[in-house]
Amino acid sequence: MLYKRSSQLFAEAEKVIPGGVNSPVRAFKAVGGTPIFVQRAKGAYLYDEDGNRLIDYINSWGPMILGHAFEPVVKAVIEKAKLGTSFGMPTELETQIAALAVSMVPNIDKIRFVNSGTEACMSAVRLARGFTKKDKIIKFAGCYHGHSDSFLIQAGSGAITFGSPNSPGVTAGTAKDTLLATYNDLQNVRTLIEANKNEIAAIIVEPVAGNMGCIPPNKGFLEGLRQLCTANDILLIFDEVMTGFRLARGGVQELSGVDADIVCFGKVIGGGLPVGAFAAREDIMNYLAPLGPVYQAGTLSGNPLAMAAGLAMLQALDNDRAIFQRLAEKTAYLHEGIEKVLEANNVVFTINRIGSMISVHFDAAPVVDLKSAGNGDNETFKKFFHGLLQEGIYIAPSAYETWFITDALTYEDLDFTIQAIDKVSKTF
Ligand SMILES: *Cc1c(COP(=O)(O)O)cnc(C)c1O
Repeated sequence: MLYKRSSQLFAEAEKVIPGGVNSPVRAFKAVGGTPIFVQRAKGAYLYDEDGNRLIDYINSWGPMILGHAFEPVVKAVIEKAKLGTSFGMPTELETQIAALAVSMVPNIDKIRFVNSGTEACMSAVRLARGFTKKDKIIKFAGCYHGHSDSFLIQAGSGAITFGSPNSPGVTAGTAKDTLLATYNDLQNVRTLIEANKNEIAAIIVEPVAGNMGCIPPNKGFLEGLRQLCTANDILLIFDEVMTGFRLARGGVQELSGVDADIVCFGKVIGGGLPVGAFAAREDIMNYLAPLGPVYQAGTLSGNPLAMAAGLAMLQALDNDRAIFQRLAEKTAYLHEGIEKVLEANNVVFTINRIGSMISVHFDAAPVVDLKSAGNGDNETFKKFFHGLLQEGIYIAPSAYETWFITDALTYEDLDFTIQAIDKVSKTF
């Protein structure tokens, strides 16, 4: 396949946009080559500016769980746009999507909408600090919670790929309030809590990590965090920006049976438009302005186009009770297929999978945290990535990313992908 026009467009973009992209993970820095410029997408496929068709395993990094240009979402956005695109005043639509989200997710009474996952996590932490009247937070190395200052400490995929896990521009004052723990290591968390008695407002965690490949929590990890939080007057924040409305109707809270105090959403909840949200039980949410003292706001928050897209997406997921099972089955099928061909070609690998999230690591040891995620062979990954691209398959241009399976993918697409991996892995 040729990517000539994409290369030209990238050269033009580089002149006026830093690195040619508006979000660093889109650049091909970790794998070499130039990013592909998309013209349009439908269902499971991307169509690029060179006229190539690619099977998409990234799906805008998660949101397009039902495939690209999903009809009910497109229709809802078009109809709403005709009525005005932003008012800065309340609309009934906001209550409708809020009520539906609250009905789908366990353990939340109220939800507030923002414009990105970053904003959701940033606001959740401010709320936790205001509510507990404490300053410090614990985050896990390799977990990503958006690009706000408090979180850019060992921040997972994007930041690691670009060699800046701790970004310049974050002040020492801010960094000192973020304590870093190892994913799946409860003892480590216990030690941090002991050393910072009565100072920790919140523990924020991706309850299934998706930004260092896909790393499910070990048995007892989330339960242990819940116990530690309850015992020490710490709020547990589940960052479900990636997992919410993807791994189950009610996200990882439903899947694990562990209750969080605050839950963050993004990606799927916006149906492909810029939306984030955070939610909690009533007494916590009532701590927000205008009811409470913790300030949080947004000119475009609850934007009618974004809410229309999100509502259409959540309704589709809510109405199809078999969806999450169906996605998990497709992902398992892909897993078994990839495993078979990689074994047959004597490739050293580990595959992690849960629900519709899957990642392939080129290392034999179990991948359970940031350190083990970093042991994969990046040279092999580069060949894998570019080989698949030549076969018309798009996976994320970094070994630290999860693949997202969508309902639009057919078993023929999955078979084609497995055959392509067989072909490509013969060249390693
Ligand atoms: C993508 C992501 C975010 C950030 O969301 P943006 O919409 O990119 O700001 C936060 N947390 C997790 C777990 C994510 O995957």
